[in-house]
Amino acid sequence: MLREELIFVGTCDIAGHVRGKGFPAREIDARRRKGVGWTHSNLMQTAFGPIWDTPFGTAGDLMIVPDTTAEVCVDFGDGSATEHFFLGDIRNTDSSPWECCPREFLRRGIAAVHAAAGLQPIAAFEQEFVYTGSEDRPGDAYALGAFRRACTFGETFVAAMRAAGIVPDSFLAEYGARQFEFTVAPAPALAAADHAVIAREMARAAAFRHGHRAVFSPMPAPEGVGNGVHIHMSLREAPGRPVTHDPTGMLGLSTPAQHFCAGVLYHLPAITAVTAPSPVSYLRLTPNRWAPTAINIVQQDRGAALRVCPVFAAADPDDVARQFNIEFRVCDGAASPYLALGAVLFAGADGLRQKLALPAPSEHAPALPRTLDDALQAMEASEAVRAWFGPVFLEAYLRHKRSELAHVAEYAVAELCHRYADVY
Ligand code: GLU
Ligand code: MG
Repeated sequence: MLREELIFVGTCDIAGHVRGKGFPAREIDARRRKGVGWTHSNLMQTAFGPIWDTPFGTAGDLMIVPDTTAEVCVDFGDGSATEHFFLGDIRNTDSSPWECCPREFLRRGIAAVHAAAGLQPIAAFEQEFVYTGSEDRPGDAYALGAFRRACTFGETFVAAMRAAGIVPDSFLAEYGARQFEFTVAPAPALAAADHAVIAREMARAAAFRHGHRAVFSPMPAPEGVGNGVHIHMSLREAPGRPVTHDPTGMLGLSTPAQHFCAGVLYHLPAITAVTAPSPVSYLRLTPNRWAPTAINIVQQDRGAALRVCPVFAAADPDDVARQFNIEFRVCDGAASPYLALGAVLFAGADGLRQKLALPAPSEHAPALPRTLDDALQAMEASEAVRAWFGPVFLEAYLRHKRSELAHVAEYAVAELCHRYADVY
């Protein structure tokens, strides 16, 4: 069959989808500079595709410019088209960053942490999904049987991640029906978010080659546990020294890590609409699902919003310091990793800047927003969030989510889960 290689350039947008455009691979040199054409209202494409509301109208031109550090070129060796794509930045036609570029938002969050305390954020995304090629059998949670039956898919997926430049850490059958999880090695925040997007796409790409789907919807069915995305974070001084841990500090956290976490907790109501950005996200954030329901930080508790993670078989104090990390659990697969991590870093940076203190362990932990509507209202009311996003991006974000909410308002819970499982 006649074929010519194609390359795709895109970004992970407000809907959490990777969208962009393709071109013949032989044009790559020119495309490195001028990218692919884009328009302002493309940002307003909802999870389901249509643009139901937009502040931008039909006017305007932008470009998505590939970042050569975020290139994926993975040949699955089965005769299917090579997965060749770049993640990139949305820029104005004069090459300046567009104010609503998700990746640029994360860069600004990283810069805020640096400006507040001279620190570099490190992150690793742990993601859960449902593999439709696995049959749901009783007793499958964490079972070798479930692992075995999905292992050919798992091996393809892990090989694809590695070929894409990610260091896989684990692949396992999780607690939920047909649910799997993977973790990857930590990286500086921008690379970590790129890896999160790429790994998600490699799961989908591997599942596609096996004739199935990897479903990252936060709550693919009304019952059982949801699919979480847990963001592991630590802080480093510029030359690379880890500074998250202090054995004498509260919860084992260093003073800057305490301020950072206090900032995340303080702003959590206002950023939940970014990290848990779909109506079904709030079905996951309910009791008895190993998912958070309150604004709290707890040592080694999988029901907390921020979990202070354990350190395993540490060889020495340096090893403890290197392993020590905090896990943000109020995130899911409907979120763009750029926006979710960016929002968490902005919040943490504000904690660092204001030297905020953690709540006392005895203090009552307030509840997380219970619906996307509540979360969007908290987001809109926050002066801090307005400053981080800027007025144009904030308005676009709120209108995007509210238009989607209005569209799905009439669906009963089962239908809602079904619809979101179709698109994530
Ligand atoms: N599935 C849970 C969630 O939605 C997490 C389970 C775990 O601790 O890995 O976050
Ligand atoms: Mg898990």
